Amino acid sequence: MKYPRNLIAAVAALLFALTTHAWDYERHRLINDLALTTLSKDFPAFVRLPANRERILFLSGEPDRWRNNRDRALRHLNTLDHYFDIEDLQPYQIKPANLSHFRYRFVEQMANARARLKLELPEANSDHTKGHPGFLPWAINENYLKLVSAFSYLKVFEKMGTEEEKLNARANVIYRMGILSHYIGDAAQPLHTTKHFNGWVGPNPKNYTTSKRFHAWIDGGFFKATQAPNRAILIKQLRPAALIKRPEKTPLASGHFQYALNYILAQHKKMEPLYQLDKEKGLSPETPAAGKAFLETQLKTGAQTLADLWQTAQTEAPPDRYLQTYLAQRQLKQGRK
Ligand SMILES: [Zn+2]
Repeated sequence: MKYPRNLIAAVAALLFALTTHAWDYERHRLINDLALTTLSKDFPAFVRLPANRERILFLSGEPDRWRNNRDRALRHLNTLDHYFDIEDLQPYQIKPANLSHFRYRFVEQMANARARLKLELPEANSDHTKGHPGFLPWAINENYLKLVSAFSYLKVFEKMGTEEEKLNARANVIYRMGILSHYIGDAAQPLHTTKHFNGWVGPNPKNYTTSKRFHAWIDGGFFKATQAPNRAILIKQLRPAALIKRPEKTPLASGHFQYALNYILAQHKKMEPLYQLDKEKGLSPETPAAGKAFLETQLKTGAQTLADLWQTAQTEAPPDRYLQTYLAQRQLKQGRK
């Protein structure tokens, strides 16, 4: 039986959308769960209340829920934040070391390269994301800075705010911790750093898999077919959350852009070993030991990186001076009444 071409294309597009979400929800939740166990004792205690803890785990899946909406403008805005396909910088002749940490300056860098090198505009697909490397390092850094902001005003509201303001500020910290977590989790999945994100593409001298099920297999299919990671064992293998140092060489990059980029580049280095592992049947349900070790290392790497960013945001966040002044004036006015 012959199917119309556009029907096949539509089904292929749907399958593609369904199979390239990065770690499934269970794996994203586990990364957050592990990360929470490593925070220092002086990290705000409300974060560990069961309802807040559960909310942080729930929010690990939030940016993927945005992807379920088929609206093109939302897809255009959101989809690119989930990955950074390093090889796709090459046509633009941009090296990772030369990336602007400002998101829109990076867009300009690409636009300039397109004009200079006469590259095609990414018009071929409906949400205009084709051929775009993605924004994952920017998404991590910007969401990190939004968390810093939430801690900054929380610190002031805790001292000078009303009960409602304190509750709202704490709720926002929970929300921001949850949203940031998703992108750190995504980057721990090496297939989110490569154009080979769902089977090898282009010249394939080492004969790696080209299966369009590979991404979903790494996201969670492997663990579902074998055995889910053992939370208690993984927790024992984690170190306490540590503060992130800013690299001296890039003082101009704000937030922790350079750290986010280095983290992604490090996971990209594990992309080909992952394909190699597959080739050696290390990801097969019959011989899963090496695959299990590899993927659990990635989950732990995501958890440690996330915890370090949470811990650093809380420590680095300066009290919000603008808010402090506003609240001091409010107190003065109320005193006069
Ligand atoms: Zn994602």
